[in-house]
Amino acid sequence: MFIPKRIIFEKTSLDYEIGKNIYNKFKGKEGMEIINLSSNKIKQHIPGDNLYDFYREGKNTLVVGVKRGFKFQSCKPSAHYQLPLVSGCIGQCEYCYLNTNLGDKPYMKVNVNIGDILDQAQKYINERLPETTIFEGSATSDPVPVEPYTNILKKTIEFFGSSNKGRFRFVTKFNDVDTLLDAEHNGNTEIRFTINTDKVISEYENRTAPINKRIEASVKVAGAGYKVGYIIAPVFIYEGWKEDYRNMLIELNSKMPEDLDYPVTFEVISHRYTTRAKNVILEVFPETTLPMVDEERKYKYGQFGYGKFIYSKEQLEDMKAFFTTEIEDIFKNKTILYII
Ligand code: SF4
Repeated sequence: MFIPKRIIFEKTSLDYEIGKNIYNKFKGKEGMEIINLSSNKIKQHIPGDNLYDFYREGKNTLVVGVKRGFKFQSCKPSAHYQLPLVSGCIGQCEYCYLNTNLGDKPYMKVNVNIGDILDQAQKYINERLPETTIFEGSATSDPVPVEPYTNILKKTIEFFGSSNKGRFRFVTKFNDVDTLLDAEHNGNTEIRFTINTDKVISEYENRTAPINKRIEASVKVAGAGYKVGYIIAPVFIYEGWKEDYRNMLIELNSKMPEDLDYPVTFEVISHRYTTRAKNVILEVFPETTLPMVDEERKYKYGQFGYGKFIYSKEQLEDMKAFFTTEIEDIFKNKTILYII
């Protein structure tokens, strides 16, 4: 659970139930800085003159805001729309895409006017009828660490639980899922967990839940009847990688209940980086040991000039063969969605 160092309340956010709950939970807590904004200028209240310091202070800051403007971003290919509940993340994964895409907003922001957001989601659902519309809750965030005191996911899950044609999904590296176990989801929400080897988590995924906690949380939500999936990402090739990933899969399988309502899904994504991301990472984590030697990678041209450095064709084929065989052998009730 995220215990921030400072909480910044945007104008009118305390008029909403979630805003009040956050305030009541943390008011008077020793060492906690509470800032009530009269304007919506957030940045000037977060210390740090350079990206390195601003990132670290931002990661300890919770902004309580009110979402204005209700045009949802599209979210292809995993969903139709992003659901703007929360942005930012308390994790400090060195390779994180948010470092590049949300670098000037490293703080966690919760939008408290969830009623307005879900009303807008309903409009999008209506527009697409009779088709089903899928909403992604973690396109620019990991919303789970604030769930115990916001209940924002639970409310959303229950909204979709009573929806005929709306579906919800989100992904996490955290384990604060207990308040979601009794939500009336009706199979309309899918919860995915990103998992990795102990070595990758301890070296690069600072301030996230350890693998055993993620597995434990995933087993709990699977037991509560949710659709559950695993994203194995980013996969790194290092000395002994196959053994580590195999052991991780065996451990996961040994904890999974046998009588799941749905097959578990697997998505596997190899490590890749852009030059832009590498430059930001080196500024925020100057000591990083992330493997980012361009000469050791293949350059893959992308749209809009954002080419990526990926593993070689032979390495990717080896990775694909490895995960296909292992997942097929180890798990009974599963679907491999893709390995890239
Ligand atoms: Fe980024 Fe996900 Fe790590 Fe958060 S948990 S820092 S969103 S990669």
